[in-house]
Amino acid sequence: MPGTEYFGAEEKKEVNEVLDSGCLFRYNHEHLRKGMWKALEMESEAKRFTGAKYAHAVSSGSTAVTTALAAAGIGYGDEVIVPPFTYLATIEAVIWMGAIPVFADIDETLCLSAEGIKKVLTPKTKGICLVHMCGGAADMDGIMKIVNEHNLTLVEDAGQALGAFYKGKSVGLFGVSGAFSFDFFKITTAGEGGLCITDSEEAYEIMHQVSDHGHSHLGDNRGMETHPIFGNNFRISELHAAIGKVQLQKVDKIRADKKANKEVLKDRLREVSGITFRKMDDPEGDSGTFLNFFLPTQAMAQRAMNQFAADGIGGFNYWYTNMYHFINQWDHIKNKDSAVKLPYHVLDCPQDYANLDLPNAQNVVGRLISLGIRGTWTSDELKEIGDKMVASLKKVVG
Ligand SMILES: *Cc1c(COP(=O)(O)O)cnc(C)c1O
Repeated sequence: MPGTEYFGAEEKKEVNEVLDSGCLFRYNHEHLRKGMWKALEMESEAKRFTGAKYAHAVSSGSTAVTTALAAAGIGYGDEVIVPPFTYLATIEAVIWMGAIPVFADIDETLCLSAEGIKKVLTPKTKGICLVHMCGGAADMDGIMKIVNEHNLTLVEDAGQALGAFYKGKSVGLFGVSGAFSFDFFKITTAGEGGLCITDSEEAYEIMHQVSDHGHSHLGDNRGMETHPIFGNNFRISELHAAIGKVQLQKVDKIRADKKANKEVLKDRLREVSGITFRKMDDPEGDSGTFLNFFLPTQAMAQRAMNQFAADGIGGFNYWYTNMYHFINQWDHIKNKDSAVKLPYHVLDCPQDYANLDLPNAQNVVGRLISLGIRGTWTSDELKEIGDKMVASLKKVVG
């Protein structure tokens, strides 16, 4: 899955240019940088690829989600609907912003479902932090209907869904603001890094200010800039941005390669009876990063994972027991364990996080296996993986 598969001379050249200039900082210092603005160039590539009007690069996917929430006006005491199947960072960002997470159920899209959202809506619901899981988009027609009907603020955590589109529109552009990650495991990586996108000028102004101590970024003297708002340091360095820029230049190819390889393996899975696939309204819009399939029961999914291990094939993920992707293992969140007191400790929470009722999530994630797709697999490798995968699964489902 990681974009490191595609690392080459281009990434090295860009990083060396930054090192040679000595300008590792994304703002100012024109005399050092010889016309090089790697973070700005990364943002231009992001706008090209996603079609967003505005893009702002930050230090991580986690700080991107935090920035996107701030840009959408989500803060103290706001009830925000979140999924129980995501990366922990989604929930962390909501809590850091002083908001209150409200967990809703998912469906076979692997994302929050319109039905799940409806069940937890109250007059106090401020918005949704929607996560596009495992490389594909949520049911945006269904979800946008609720967002519009109830005038909710939508923020998209597309941390693992760069390259996913829904009916021609990039994820991250359906709500006020969207966030992507460039960590080591993502379709494009900068080592560490993140990106926010938006079509709203107002949201963009907050994004670049809040992620840099509230700096106005006006004029050419950083020390004399005003601070229209309160912020923090979520800046990306020029070194990371240099890599992120090149990875974004390669993402069309990475995506096409992954999608092609995924189709080959998905076709092979049709040889096994009882296997079904992640629900996707717009399969063309998939990023190709994961082949997501369901076994008939949770017990069978667990047996399939054991069989893959016994037969020596790797690359399969079983998120149901994974420590950071599924709520069952998030004891610290369920118990509100924290080093310090945060707003959600003292404000009313509409849910007891230790006793949530999310039957679809338990069922869907319990039966789900995800294979991380490499774009660089050769046809011989694909055949070998396909043969082994089918043989192991046949031992389990007969
Ligand atoms: C990876 C990821 C993040 C966090 O990104 P980092 O760059 O690792 O901080 C946030 N949300 C989702 C859905 C992710 O997959």
